Amino acid sequence: MKVKIGLEIHLELKTKSKMFCACKNDYDYEDEPNVNICPICLGYPGVLPTVNKKAIEYAILLSKALNCKISEKIQFYRKNYFYPDLPKGYQITQYKVGSIGYDGYLYLNLDGGKKVGIDRISLEEDTARTIQTEKDEILLDFNRSGIPLIEIVTKPDMENPKECVKFLENLRLTIQYLNISDANMEKGQMRVDVNVSVEDNERVEIKNVNSIREVENALYYEINYQIEQIKAGKKIKRATKMWDDYLKETREMRRKETEDDYRYFPEPDLPHIQIKDIDLVFKTPFKVYEEIVKLGVQKDYAEIIVRDLRLCNYFENFLKHSGDAIIGSNFIVNILKSFDKLPEPKELAKLSILVKENKIPNHIARQKLNEMKENLNVENILKNMDILSDKEVEEIARSLIEKFPEALKQK
Ligand code: ZN
Ligand code: MN
Repeated sequence: MKVKIGLEIHLELKTKSKMFCACKNDYDYEDEPNVNICPICLGYPGVLPTVNKKAIEYAILLSKALNCKISEKIQFYRKNYFYPDLPKGYQITQYKVGSIGYDGYLYLNLDGGKKVGIDRISLEEDTARTIQTEKDEILLDFNRSGIPLIEIVTKPDMENPKECVKFLENLRLTIQYLNISDANMEKGQMRVDVNVSVEDNERVEIKNVNSIREVENALYYEINYQIEQIKAGKKIKRATKMWDDYLKETREMRRKETEDDYRYFPEPDLPHIQIKDIDLVFKTPFKVYEEIVKLGVQKDYAEIIVRDLRLCNYFENFLKHSGDAIIGSNFIVNILKSFDKLPEPKELAKLSILVKENKIPNHIARQKLNEMKENLNVENILKNMDILSDKEVEEIARSLIEKFPEALKQK
């Protein structure tokens, strides 16, 4: 049966302050509860929001990295609903027209392949955090209220859970390359809602699954469940479910409300924002992968390096010191990857050139790397090695040829 999966991702941004006020954005959740608050993010009557410029810049960056068009005129809306974590009674968000980015895509593989469409990218504010105690009390932490959130909505282009995993891994990596968020799912910095439908039935939404692996598990469970229902002649109803990662099952929370229930209307306290002359420099894992492969690095090595930001930054530094890309990538993937600390990129660059010029045999270089680890020092290696000059090598070669003329003829 044909499966269609779309994702809705919420991403907390690594800005200094909140989306519409000057409170500290403690998105690592290190502070005491309810200390980073003010009348604006507590939703007092009569207060006025102001827009965080950095958050807009980050949203444009992500939109560009996900190949989106950028709206010329950005507009905010009010999404009205009541919930204890939403003190104003509405969330400032964006709605259809005037979202930061729209009509983009992300490749499932670093070297291209299938594209997953991005419907739109918008900016909004996070709600307060609700914490349920063992005594079944609900605690509220308003430190989170008003943290800048980016919402990414994909088209329902994914056809199986594996494609979702690839999409989310590439998205998270792209976000980390842009350095706009750490996108740590366990901390709730990146939260994923999944929409899934089988054949032409209603779609079911699964809320807030908190790791990529659990997204995969939840999808396998829900798809199998829906297929069984369909086979038994039952109707799939539109619903919102939650994933219970302890019992490993999806459970219905509520029947889905429609968009009309939210009574969206333009936020009257914020002006339209004109976006002009966007000239942002950024790198994506896709671009870096392409560049590295062009240098002759084998594809599987390039992928390992690009998917690990620490190794990738290191490799770029190594290249800046004129290291040999092919030899260097080999050292990094096969030896350095397991080191806690990496040697000076400059030293590795020197080593790679000496190996390339046959001045240090490859096996000796590898051995020294393993011994010296982060203290790699090429001068020391050379000092302790009897390196022959080119002239000496020539002399040895000549004497060998004289000694064994037959061997030369045999090739
Ligand atoms: Zn505030
Ligand atoms: Mn949202």
